[in-house]
Amino acid sequence: MTVPQRFDTHDIFNQSPPFENVDLFATDRALQDAVATNGAGAEAAALSEFGRRWGSAAMFDAARLANENTPKLKTFDTKGFRRDVVEFHPAYHQLMAESMRDGMHASTWNPDGTRAKPPSEVARAARYFMEAQVENGHQCPITMTRACVGALAAEPALLARLIEKITSRRYDPRFIPWWEKDGITLGMGMTEKQGGTDVRANTTTASPSADGYAITGHKWFMSAPMCDAFLVLAQAPGGLTCFLMPRFRSDGSVNGLRLQRLKDKLGNRSNASSEVEFVEAFAWRVGEEGRGVRTIIEMVQLTRVDCIIGSAGMMRMALAQAVHHTRYRTVFQRKLADQPMMRHLTADMALEMEAVTALMLRLCRSFDLAASDAREAARARLLTPAVKYFVCKSAPPFIYEAMECLGGNGYVEELPLARLYREAPVNAIWEGSGNVMCLDVLRALSREGEAARAVLADLVGTCADLGGARETAAFIGRTLIAADGEAKARAAVEKLALLAAAAALTESAPAVAHAFARTRLATARGGSYGTADLAAAEVATLLDRALPA
Ligand SMILES: Cc1cc2nc3c(=O)[nH]c(=O)nc-3n(C[C@H](O)[C@H](O)[C@H](O)COP(=O)(O)OP(=O)(O)OC[C@H]3O[C@@H](n4cnc5c(N)ncnc54)[C@H](O)[C@@H]3O)c2cc1C
Repeated sequence: MTVPQRFDTHDIFNQSPPFENVDLFATDRALQDAVATNGAGAEAAALSEFGRRWGSAAMFDAARLANENTPKLKTFDTKGFRRDVVEFHPAYHQLMAESMRDGMHASTWNPDGTRAKPPSEVARAARYFMEAQVENGHQCPITMTRACVGALAAEPALLARLIEKITSRRYDPRFIPWWEKDGITLGMGMTEKQGGTDVRANTTTASPSADGYAITGHKWFMSAPMCDAFLVLAQAPGGLTCFLMPRFRSDGSVNGLRLQRLKDKLGNRSNASSEVEFVEAFAWRVGEEGRGVRTIIEMVQLTRVDCIIGSAGMMRMALAQAVHHTRYRTVFQRKLADQPMMRHLTADMALEMEAVTALMLRLCRSFDLAASDAREAARARLLTPAVKYFVCKSAPPFIYEAMECLGGNGYVEELPLARLYREAPVNAIWEGSGNVMCLDVLRALSREGEAARAVLADLVGTCADLGGARETAAFIGRTLIAADGEAKARAAVEKLALLAAAAALTESAPAVAHAFARTRLATARGGSYGTADLAAAEVATLLDRALPA
């Protein structure tokens, strides 16, 4: 607020202006450096255009509206016939349309469903990261649509029928058969009442029918139920199998999906998550019978990457809000941004954000290169669960600390921090919860031990100049192969992510890599932000990079 405003009783001053109408790319030095280092520097101008559009006041407002006006399940029509549709606020549709126009669901695929060439993963991740700073709920169907293609590759003929609709940049929310639509979205249902992690315990059954399978049973969580088709797991005669279940049967009638109710969730409120029953619902088989987990894991690996990027995006918005506010707010006759303890706190958070940004885009580069480089494929395999564990767990305490930087303003709903805070835990819970990610790192080590050890050696080699790297790698190796490795896996997996972050920083942000290694590898950071031992020059560099003055 540059112009003081007069109320009957007081003037308004000493409030920060809204953080909106900003270029989310140009104001983020860590993002720009990581994009350039990981091969997408040529996209800088386009990313800036994207950053301005998503950073506009109108987009922040659409995000607010989509979350304040939550989706409603319309189970029946006025005469008692089933409808099984969910109604959304126009702001949700607007966000979906923007996202799909930007290709967030499709830009990593070629028109034939094969992987687009590098740096498509890095470029998409940079965009998804900026979107996540604005609105997260609508990203759920966007993520699932792009990831489903990974699993559908197991059924080339089916993929060939659908791919044009999947990769269409047009959002079409109409509840009509998929072949009549301008573009379609895909979701997935694995979790049942008796288990989400242990999907082999699924009780839903699949019986072969004339043109596919008839699926009977339920899913306890099935998000974005207005998607046009869902990857689901069910027990076929040959064992647990992956299927694609459309909302409409091939004759144009509504398929047997009965939406029971919507979840009343802590956050993620713009997105609908349903409980659903399948009543002899028609589905196509995807992959061989009995190979359901193997097939759907191709999708899950991609959704895990989006959990990482999504959490990173939320952290970035929280940091930007905090740094921005402290530059305007005066307490005890001095700007908060000039108070030593506040500077140290926000710099420590900025250091964490530098690491998360570098780590996320370095991982996406591995996805870009995996098809042609076995070492990068091994890196993606080992580090995806470790990075998901670390980044998704980092988001809630990070956002909380940012909220506190804004004092009472941080806690109220007009600013996005309260929403971000409620949203943040979900990325750690779904797509493989924390412990499950650690078990997945152990699995990679036991099944592909040689390749995993080579990844660890690469990380140490990249960090050769950084204090604490060798000791960290030795701890990881020792702990994960010990007899009680499973019990202690969290400590080792966290350190694996920190080591990978230090390695990523040496490549994209060498100016801050030493500070990161010194405060996160060589010594342990304290229980809250602001406790890392940073020199004044490091604090200045970090705050400068975090947000241009
Ligand atoms: C908002 C929201 C939307 C969702 N949308 C979908 C969706 O669209 N489709 C879908 O299929 N699912 C969805 N889910 C479900 C989600 O994927 C599951 O909740 C998740 O996989 C965990 O499964 P669970 O709830 O059955 O917990 P459980 O499997 O019972 O796990 C409980 C806890 O035990 C831990 N644990 C499990 N095994 C071990 C072990 N061996 N050692 C140590 N700890 C272990 C887990 O890490 C977890 O912390 C959604 C969930 C939420 C919250």
